[in-house]
Amino acid sequence: MKNIIISILFIFCFLISGTAFSAESVKDTSVLYTGKIYHIFFHSLVIYPNLAFFSKKDDNQTYKDYMITRDEFEKILPELYKNNFVLIEINSLYKVNSDNSIEKQNLYLPVGKKPLIISLDDLNYYRTKKDRGMANKLVLDQNGNVATEIVTPDGKIEITRDGDIVPLLDDFVIAHPDFSIDGAKGIIALTGFDGVLGYRTSKIYAKNYSTEILGAQKVIEKLKSTGWSFASHSYSHRASFVAGTISLEELKKDTELWRDRVASLVGNTNIFIGPFGQVFRNKNDPRRIYLMSQGFKVFCGVGMDLYINYSSNYLDMNRADIDGYRLTHASFYLKDYFDPKLIVDYLR
Ligand SMILES: [Zn+2]
Repeated sequence: MKNIIISILFIFCFLISGTAFSAESVKDTSVLYTGKIYHIFFHSLVIYPNLAFFSKKDDNQTYKDYMITRDEFEKILPELYKNNFVLIEINSLYKVNSDNSIEKQNLYLPVGKKPLIISLDDLNYYRTKKDRGMANKLVLDQNGNVATEIVTPDGKIEITRDGDIVPLLDDFVIAHPDFSIDGAKGIIALTGFDGVLGYRTSKIYAKNYSTEILGAQKVIEKLKSTGWSFASHSYSHRASFVAGTISLEELKKDTELWRDRVASLVGNTNIFIGPFGQVFRNKNDPRRIYLMSQGFKVFCGVGMDLYINYSSNYLDMNRADIDGYRLTHASFYLKDYFDPKLIVDYLR
């Protein structure tokens, strides 16, 4: 009996000290990070380059410039991992106080690691991009995980785990849990004019409207529970954003539509990922003031300069484009992340 009690005590002490030890070791290896914050973004992946880059249409160059291929992305991930990047949640950088002000937060990372935020622009699977060798939509596979529905060049519909960044990154983090701090994945920047995630949720009078809403909701719920978050990328992505000529009235209508048709599905967000990088950076611009009055606090533009600026009530940040243009033009900008020569698909 005495031996049994001693054994139980021994196991108990072992468990206690084991737990204490592991918690201690995580704390020990994390240090205050004071270096650069990296934020990169991608569009949906091209899985059949022939259909995107060498079609009979006259917009092949657009696909070459703005997209990368699945093969390129599958080479990028291990390079980022090897180069000591770790995924973080953008909201670990700031805290919103009760008076709506923003407070910079200290970032603690394992020694030698660099923080990386990934965002995915226009993850809407627009109908205009059908037949161009990209996924159709995000769906749940038979295990209930987010997967891609694709159409093969011979017209077969398949559910795959490598048709776009979401399942590829999910699986990479499962294989390399230390690539993600607290399970962070990325920010999905959605417009709304052609629905979201491949579901035609903008056609509110269509017969299948409720089916589309339900389909989108299931995927959104799973994405949120697996480390993904959402941002507004405007409702319309209209050209007047890039020109900077969109009027305040038009922006109001656009923002209301986003709230009604997209936030109603993905929930409220304080992240605005500007369409074409447009974030109305002048703080006195009435359009910036309006967006802030609508709850947006984090404004993400486009640029390779690692620009980040905390103000008392907003955070501005630039994101580096990782696309075909960047891989092949002035690619020295990418040197912190990976060597572009190792990445570029020979099919380009
Ligand atoms: Zn966009």
